[in-house]
Amino acid sequence: TKPSEVTPAILMKSYACQRRTPLKHHNSVLTDALEILALNAEFTKNEGRSVAFRRAASVLKALPRGVRTMDDLKDLPCLGEHSLRVIKEILDAGTSSEVEWTRQSEQFQAMKALTGVFGVGVRTADRWFREGLRNHLDLIHKSQKLNRAQEAGVQYYNDLNTPVTKKEAMVITVIVEKAVNDVLPGAIITLTGGFRRGKEVGHDVDFLITHPDEGAEEKLMPKIVNWLEDQGLLLYQKTTRNSYLENKDGPARPACNMDRFERCFSIFKLERSKLDSDTRIEDSSYNSGVTDGTQTHSGSTWRAVRVDLVVSPYSQFAFATLGWTGSKLFERELRRWAGQEKGMSLSSHALYDSKQQRYLPANSEEEIFTLLGLEYIPPSERNA
Ligand code: ATP
Ligand code: MN
Ligand code: MN
Repeated sequence: TKPSEVTPAILMKSYACQRRTPLKHHNSVLTDALEILALNAEFTKNEGRSVAFRRAASVLKALPRGVRTMDDLKDLPCLGEHSLRVIKEILDAGTSSEVEWTRQSEQFQAMKALTGVFGVGVRTADRWFREGLRNHLDLIHKSQKLNRAQEAGVQYYNDLNTPVTKKEAMVITVIVEKAVNDVLPGAIITLTGGFRRGKEVGHDVDFLITHPDEGAEEKLMPKIVNWLEDQGLLLYQKTTRNSYLENKDGPARPACNMDRFERCFSIFKLERSKLDSDTRIEDSSYNSGVTDGTQTHSGSTWRAVRVDLVVSPYSQFAFATLGWTGSKLFERELRRWAGQEKGMSLSSHALYDSKQQRYLPANSEEEIFTLLGLEYIPPSERNA
């Protein structure tokens, strides 16, 4: 081969937090397939396998071009034997028999449908599957006993499974800003999650709230929730108070990836009249008086949207912002990098250096990357 024909080797770092992963990439056929297998591994409680497939998919998302031959994968990290076999099959035949079989299996489809109900996790879905339930309609018809979250999940099933658009996220941002500034002037509201990474749609809208006066944010969530409820804007909410300081073993509790902020998992009632009229006319699927028993309301004046609210003290705001921006794999890789490569533990509250036996404070995401010895990756490139 002439030197000019040699494609330059791609230097692919092995942790997702060392790489730039844009939202749009060139290998979605392959990554969709690997992510089916990852999801199926999650459904069968095989976490190790699931992460392995997700890491493999994530490497392909970071490639500057589409994979055409197995040669294109030379020297890439995180591609295990199983992932390589699936990729090869797709490159050779267009599809992978394992992926197609999985996709169509009764268990996979039922687990996907059941975990698609708000308030239903893998464990519950698995139990229901073994009891013979297959989808959200079975939950109604077989009078399954549901908790309050799951009731709401069934009731608003169609809306909650309709992707939230950026425009809807912006309308909700305006509402949340109004609510928060009314109950605590000077508070800072940040849109986090997928929308901060530049996604066009999401399954929910995530907000992080803080105030420059440390302590001013305490007990803020109940006030926000009351304000929203008074305006008739909430269809469901579950508020959890801050448990960060309740832990006797010291604050960060790094091994646990659930954080301990004051938070609220909610379902907003979004008036359609708040959206521009052109969307309203175009999108006729919007609350069209669905009759399958999952939505009790009729008419099309509003829709249900999942919203997550989190309140953080100012001193933890940078860590909370980093922790709630995602993607989930990016977060996981950040924590793994901190632990395995730096002897540190990172959470959405703090960064602890085990060697120095002290917390390392930070005022911005950039500072946290620096403390971790990583190049700064902006939110739009964290779509690992
Ligand atoms: P989507 O568009 O599907 O909503 P997303 O990336 O916004 O995608 P979310 O499930 O909303 O996904 O999560 C957003 C971020 O919040 C993720 O980075 C996740 O790590 C973090 N997160 C979600 N739930 C928790 C939790 N219980 N504790 C700590 N962090 C969480
Ligand atoms: Mn989200
Ligand atoms: Mn969320």
